[in-house]
Amino acid sequence: MRILLHTCCAPCLIAPFESLGSKGYQVTAFFHNPNVMPYREFRARVAAFKEYTAANHIPAICDEVYSLEPTLRYLLERITDSRCRACYDMRLLKTAQTAVEKGYDSFTTTLLVSPYQNHKAICDAATAAADKFGVRFHYADWRPLFAKSHEEASSKKLYMQSYCGCIFSEEERFRPSLRKKKAKSRPKEEVCAC
Ligand code: SF4
Repeated sequence: MRILLHTCCAPCLIAPFESLGSKGYQVTAFFHNPNVMPYREFRARVAAFKEYTAANHIPAICDEVYSLEPTLRYLLERITDSRCRACYDMRLLKTAQTAVEKGYDSFTTTLLVSPYQNHKAICDAATAAADKFGVRFHYADWRPLFAKSHEEASSKKLYMQSYCGCIFSEEERFRPSLRKKKAKSRPKEEVCAC
């Protein structure tokens, strides 16, 4: 089974790649994250992805196009509650489309390893993308592997980002008042039904 693994960043790739490999999947890592801003941050994450996949002989596709203006316009139109869902849609629609174009049996995403992302919204976006392009979405709850994945990344001295990706998440991460508000609004337990 050939699977296209949307990869948000190198540290989050480690555990999902190992998990899929242990189940017999032939995995290709796919970096497509136009949500990452600004330019130097985007380049740092691209570089870490290329460095890690090359060093570990992981088949990889890396979209290095930095599309700040259209991505900002897209997110600004969805700046309220649906911003992250729209961001998942943007990345997972492209992943599902690429999976079909390149003949993969299914796709999934390393976003499912992060306890800081909206797990349910990721599942909803992936399911919608799968329906739209007629390709299977492989669901896995890798959140219990998050700490292990990031510890390994740290021990390998991989670049570790300090915020999600867009400039709004950067402000939420480093502006204390927004940080507290965000922490309070995060759901305690999210169960995905996909
Ligand atoms: S916080 Fe993260 S998931 Fe949400 S819109 Fe920004 S980059 Fe995308």
